[in-house]
Amino acid sequence: TRHALETRALDHLWMHSNDLEWDDLQEGGLRVFSRGHGSTLIDVHGAEYIDGLAGLFVVAAGHGRTEIGEAMARQAGEIAYTAASNAANPVNIALAEKISSLTPGDLNRVFLCSGGSEAVESAMKIAKQVQVMRGHGKRYKIIARRGSYHGTTFGAASLTGSASEKYFGPFMPGVSKVPNPNQYRNDFGLDGEAGDIMCARFIEQEILAQGPENVAAVIGEPISVANGTHLPSPIYWQMLRDICDRYGVLLIMDEVITGWGRTGKWFAAEHYGVVPDIMTMAKGLSSGYAPVAAVAVRSSIFDDFRPTGQALNHLITFGGHAVAAAAALKNIEILERENLVQRSAEMGTYLYDLAQKLRSHPTVGDVRGGLGLLCAIDFVKNKDTREAWGTSHPFIKFLALRTQEEGLVTRVWDVLHLAPPFVLTRDEAERAIDIVDRCLTEAEAKFAD
Ligand code: PLP
Repeated sequence: TRHALETRALDHLWMHSNDLEWDDLQEGGLRVFSRGHGSTLIDVHGAEYIDGLAGLFVVAAGHGRTEIGEAMARQAGEIAYTAASNAANPVNIALAEKISSLTPGDLNRVFLCSGGSEAVESAMKIAKQVQVMRGHGKRYKIIARRGSYHGTTFGAASLTGSASEKYFGPFMPGVSKVPNPNQYRNDFGLDGEAGDIMCARFIEQEILAQGPENVAAVIGEPISVANGTHLPSPIYWQMLRDICDRYGVLLIMDEVITGWGRTGKWFAAEHYGVVPDIMTMAKGLSSGYAPVAAVAVRSSIFDDFRPTGQALNHLITFGGHAVAAAAALKNIEILERENLVQRSAEMGTYLYDLAQKLRSHPTVGDVRGGLGLLCAIDFVKNKDTREAWGTSHPFIKFLALRTQEEGLVTRVWDVLHLAPPFVLTRDEAERAIDIVDRCLTEAEAKFAD
């Protein structure tokens, strides 16, 4: 039976769009969670679930960290808000310093904001304005990748592969979309590293086709989760770094998902030995205890604003919010104190190894991951053709609902994503894979040809 809170949610909340349609929500897809601890979520009926997705790749440190709440309450009592433009507060200063100390290379200048989309908007404007400051003229073009996700605001959606042209187009002009690295279904029909190298070369060709004097930046997630968590070879990112340098194009890495330990290092850029010019981050920065995001920028970019005395033409009221900064700082303190980034690496390997057994299913084409707690199980109609089911196929919808009924909250599109909090236990990892295994067997019996 439906709980009163579930009815009220269905009556008044306009749910943000995800993989569930409105009808699916009515039929049990919507859960109201009233409590959580560690990797466990508890709904209003008292049922427990493994949070297989850390909310939405967010709750790195786990649920129920009252310590973060206490830090936020203390901060609210001291000072909650100072103007983002001409004032600062002790915690947003400390947060900028902390981010600078943990990001790779000389990403030492930090612009604070409230969410991933805002971070991407900010990164885009920084890239465009600094090109003008450098005397390169108005480079208005940006190269993004087809299957990528960069956010929901208009600029960020313009860079996103799946944004709905049907309702919202035309999007921002000057965006080129190029193939994403994908070793399982490569756009060029190439295997392994060769496909990734072709994707990098394609970007160089696109810069030349658009005219380097017009291109401000290339943007990509180090590992694109939206595109199905395909892990590129390190050479892909190293080539992109060289190509961007060759043409004075800025390299933006969107670490909104991959940052803050998700891939077993503080930032995924470290796996590739590449320092981007601009890095966006959100989600795990505060583990979701407060909406906070940031753009970390190389010192040389900030320095190019100074001789002109010009500021970045960009102001977000809630940027550097003190209570949000206090939440982020306490979250980072916990990640460090409990060695949770290391734990993400170790548990990520454990979960990935366990997930390999799913390959014996006729509908599991690929199991990707191995870098931290970021794993994807790729479902196919046929292992030889690698044909995907499509996100709205009843097979996929059945899996999404059944895994949830069995106590695993996750997200199933063409791939099933597993990205739990870093405090996940071995027992929870085993249970999660066991649930996927059982639900897959059911789905295969139901939807067999
Ligand atoms: N960039 C990436 C890589 C993301 O995955 C997301 C959200 O999932 C965003 C940007 C947008 O972040 P937000 O939803 O916080 O605006």
